Amino acid sequence: MLNPTHELCSIPMPDQYFGMDDYGKGTPRWCPGCGGHSILASVQRVCKDLQYPPEKTVCVSGIGCSSRFPHYMGTYGFHGLHGRAFPVACGIKFRRPDLNVFAITGDGDCCSIGAGHWVHAIRYNMKMVVLLFDNGIYGLTKKQTSPTSPMGTLSNTHPAGSVLPPINPIQTTLGLANVSFVAQTTDWNSAHLYATIRKAADHPGLAFVRIVQRCPVFMRDLYGDIATNKDELILLSHQNGIDLKPSALQSFKHILEHDPSNIHKAREHAETEDGIPIGLFYQNTSSPRYDLYGAHNRGMNTTDKKWALESLLDQYTIRNN
Ligand code: SF4
Repeated sequence: MLNPTHELCSIPMPDQYFGMDDYGKGTPRWCPGCGGHSILASVQRVCKDLQYPPEKTVCVSGIGCSSRFPHYMGTYGFHGLHGRAFPVACGIKFRRPDLNVFAITGDGDCCSIGAGHWVHAIRYNMKMVVLLFDNGIYGLTKKQTSPTSPMGTLSNTHPAGSVLPPINPIQTTLGLANVSFVAQTTDWNSAHLYATIRKAADHPGLAFVRIVQRCPVFMRDLYGDIATNKDELILLSHQNGIDLKPSALQSFKHILEHDPSNIHKAREHAETEDGIPIGLFYQNTSSPRYDLYGAHNRGMNTTDKKWALESLLDQYTIRNN
């Protein structure tokens, strides 16, 4: 809310301004060089730039290195069960549509045990930002093959190399019913990371962002070189895509024009093996949202809800006469 009668300045000033410190809490216990640090900083910056009140913001996670995220945010948080970030986040959004919801998940959390919830959360399309920290390994439990580990990955579960093709989270999400926003970025390109999360926060529906994340402890070989090799990244660019400053564009060698309203092209780009495409693959701002069907959005108060529930249960009453 603005206060146009501020005494010392004619420029309207906010009654309360939240700084970066308001969104931070504790000391992150991720390893040095872990991609989680830059993702955390970007989310905090987005919250600050959008002036999300910390008490109106909630971060929900499952289990894994990524899922420590809520502990480091000065907002509400829910560090839940493995693979269960989505149902908790959906429940929160359905009952409290006034909250800003971030669902934090990892490749083991989302693409394995949580895959069923992933499918339905995308279909429900409730307004929230989903951040998939994808480092291609189970890091918290010390190096087991994850669903996104590239074939041949040496791990404790596959010491001779993983044998199955990995799930491509972008390709998979683009194939789900009612998908409305799919983007990809990396932890090491801070300008693109920030701009992607910022765009996701503005999306009227579920914004799914896969973040290609480095795990220098257990997957040093996977993305170690990519972070310094400009040949590996392909920037998807469009006027309706991720908004990057011209100076940030200079760090990309390969730029591909892609209209994010074109889901068929998005699927083609998701399949490419020529490099890692980053940017907005797909956006549809008019996909139906299940959170708009909650009682809250029908203007029901507590008495109305109680009456509606009792009327519903009355249908199941067995009468003797
Ligand atoms: Fe990050 Fe890997 Fe360390 Fe986990 S094990 S905190 S993913 S660097």
